[in-house]
Amino acid sequence: MTRIDLRVPFAEKDDAKRLGARWDAVKKVWYVPAGLDSALFGKWLPREPEGNLRAPSYAIAQSAAPCWKCGRQAHAFSFLLPAGHEVLEDVAADESDEGIWEWVRVETPTIVHYVEQIPLPVQRQMSALSGNSYRLDYSKTTQSSYWMNHCHHCGMKQGDFGMHCEPGGAFMPMDEHAASGISLRFIGEPFAASCGGYSVDVDFLNHMRRF
Ligand SMILES: [Zn+2]
Repeated sequence: MTRIDLRVPFAEKDDAKRLGARWDAVKKVWYVPAGLDSALFGKWLPREPEGNLRAPSYAIAQSAAPCWKCGRQAHAFSFLLPAGHEVLEDVAADESDEGIWEWVRVETPTIVHYVEQIPLPVQRQMSALSGNSYRLDYSKTTQSSYWMNHCHHCGMKQGDFGMHCEPGGAFMPMDEHAASGISLRFIGEPFAASCGGYSVDVDFLNHMRRF
């Protein structure tokens, strides 16, 4: 059974403490200790799905990258969030503080990576477009499960690092020409995820095709 982390606003921390919530100084989060009924903490329980990024709409991004196993050019998929999406950030000024988590608006487009949780409707859209080649799988590198690409030729997992964390990777364009290798399908439905991400130059976004 996994620990339940709570979303406690700073002003309500004493209430949470009184009810028995514990403070994790490393993750800077209040949680329900073992043996206590989580229903006690109803108003602070995470809404499903729990995540650190949200947006009223999103795009499925398609690019291509050579498969490390079979060497053939394989489809690669990811998510792009338009400017105006929100990220959950610790806005506490003092590092010794207990953490004040707030949704902060981001004014640049973002491509996400190491996606751990996405809502079912988003999963369905992605599965349909990717032919189920983008799916939840276990990574030995990160020792965790996240949504990743699989080569549509040989089926091998294609981790996010090469595509998302190396300049020039399929989803890390360094110039407009590279950006034009990415296609976007905009979807007017809400997005939420637990994931990382990085900003994309707005000019690059204009060079991405629509599909
Ligand atoms: Zn392959």
